[in-house]
Amino acid sequence: MVKKLSRNTLIYKFSPNLRPAEVADPRDIVIFETIDALGGQVRSEDVSLSEIDWGKINPATGPLYIEGGEPGDTLVVDILDIKVEDKAVIIVVPKYGALHEEVFSAKVKLLDVSKDFVKFNNIKIPAKPMIGVIGVAPEKGEIPTGTSGPHGGNMDVAEVTRGRRLYFPIFTEGALLAVGDLHVVQGDGEVCVAAAEVSGEVTVRVDVIKERHPPYPVLEAEGYYAILASGKTLDEAARAATKAAVEALMREYNYSFEEAYMLASLVVHLRINQVVDPMKGIRAELPKSIVTLNSLLVPTTKK
Ligand code: CA
Ligand code: CA
Repeated sequence: MVKKLSRNTLIYKFSPNLRPAEVADPRDIVIFETIDALGGQVRSEDVSLSEIDWGKINPATGPLYIEGGEPGDTLVVDILDIKVEDKAVIIVVPKYGALHEEVFSAKVKLLDVSKDFVKFNNIKIPAKPMIGVIGVAPEKGEIPTGTSGPHGGNMDVAEVTRGRRLYFPIFTEGALLAVGDLHVVQGDGEVCVAAAEVSGEVTVRVDVIKERHPPYPVLEAEGYYAILASGKTLDEAARAATKAAVEALMREYNYSFEEAYMLASLVVHLRINQVVDPMKGIRAELPKSIVTLNSLLVPTTKK
């Protein structure tokens, strides 16, 4: 059956202590109504960024409790559809982004969105709606929705689009999935700190794989799996993504570290997710001809 979570159930941190906004069974279809990363506060180019309530940025809708999802299991999320509204917003903020050391002014720009394009001045950019924030609750404590980690969160991966599938490690009963921060389009890197930020609606199908889990969220696309790692620096994120990819190849082929490390150098593509959030993101793409899902999910040893 189809369940719907409205924009009234916003969270600003992922935590096992949050009350579920809704409960779903495996195989259920669920719609998340989401509000843009600025909390819907910027509706005009005249808004001064100092007027914004920064406590209301990066909202995610949820959390959704998935029956049967227990620590050590995998949450499967099929992205069936992403609908976006017809106005998006992008900002630049002094001291933020890849060029945070440059001197520049704060600026707000509203962007018109049509079915296939977002318009930047007179430049028509093909729309590729994606989800910036998607994740589950950590084992304990709370993690702001503006950052990322093994639980997912603010990963800002341009490839998290319609038709793709995500696998998350489950850390707490019911997983507690939340979704927000849609972008009409974003380049790898998200260099200025914002993308075409937009409100909208995400339709997913959830499922659970028992007693196996990915060390980091995994994205499944047509021809590849991507391990979505994060770190305080890009170097750290690259190391984490590479290590997880090498370990998957060791499991796939029963290889030594040395053999798997060599193979990784031939077939794994490290790509930048974003360079602007508190935790930087790198994904390791592994072709499906080389690795199976089975090797990306680790058997869970019961405590
Ligand atoms: Ca984001
Ligand atoms: Ca965003």
